Amino acid sequence: MEKRNVIIIGSGPAGLTAAIYSARANLNPLLFEGYQSGGQLMITTEVENFPGFKDGIMGPELMEELKSQAEKFGTEFISSDVTKVELSADKKIIWDEDEAYEAKAVIIATGATANLLGLPNEKRLMGRGVSACATCDGFFFKDKEIALVGGGDSAMEEATYLTRFASKVFVIHRRDQFRASKIMIQKAKENPKIEFILNSTVEDILGDAKVTGIRIKNVISGDISDLKVEGVFIAIGHTPNTTLFKGLVDIDEKGYIVTGTDKQKRTATKIPGVFACGDVQDSIYKQAITAAGSGCAAALDAERYIESME
Ligand code: NAP
Repeated sequence: MEKRNVIIIGSGPAGLTAAIYSARANLNPLLFEGYQSGGQLMITTEVENFPGFKDGIMGPELMEELKSQAEKFGTEFISSDVTKVELSADKKIIWDEDEAYEAKAVIIATGATANLLGLPNEKRLMGRGVSACATCDGFFFKDKEIALVGGGDSAMEEATYLTRFASKVFVIHRRDQFRASKIMIQKAKENPKIEFILNSTVEDILGDAKVTGIRIKNVISGDISDLKVEGVFIAIGHTPNTTLFKGLVDIDEKGYIVTGTDKQKRTATKIPGVFACGDVQDSIYKQAITAAGSGCAAALDAERYIESME
């Protein structure tokens, strides 16, 4: 079995930053990118708040930069998804189908995946007018009226982005208060193509072969009404990707990996030598830069752990 110092699982800002630091510490990290490499920034448009890019940078371009920086210092990449892990204080084995790799330290940076409303017709019409990725699918809605569900920063950002294509974007939000930051709400409110439908939930998505509308319920009056739209974008947050690690590391009630049990190693999970960083363990900040910062911390923690073992 191939033996490595550090294995990193995940290739978003957290995983790649962990790779840059581990590689520069001569730990020759091996990084499992997953089939969809780059994480959530690959489906983001312009990133305006990543320090160092005052004119903004496109999400995929930022990830390419981070990857080539990690490569430059000697990170090795495997592009498949990890299929199984065995994690204990004494043994850490990562499986890629039948191929097994043993590591002294493991860094989990598997990020999070977009949530859906859970309506039967949402699944049925996915790709036929329903989408969870404005940047992937916005282009298909040129001059069309569409709806977007959510009240966070993603919802505001995506609604604004979608006005590049759509003639009208209805933002459907279940409350009249927003989770999004003031500047993002203001930008959306000032956009003449965006109309807010508040205190409302989507009860159903209508259409046979493709989306023709949505059924909305006003949660205050209880009134039900249909809105004619040709697309529905879902932007209601994310769930951490922890399936591989269930029953091994601790996972909190919201689904995030619990870290910080060791005060000297803040990214430590309950298994010695297993660290977690980025959106898979951060239920509070969830920013590209905080993910990158925690990736750096995880690499330093892993390095110190390996040193202490030797
Ligand atoms: P979020 O902040 O968790 O917001 C999710 C939104 O969806 C909330 O408004 C929530 O409503 C709503 N929602 C959740 N479940 C729902 C359901 N079943 N039905 C209807 N509505 C539902 O998620 P996010 O917008 O994806 O943002 C995640 C993190 O990334 C945040 O920390 C955000 O600041 C960050 N982010 C930053 C930027 C940026 O700065 N450029 C851009 C995008 C995201 P309630 O409010 O009622 O709970």
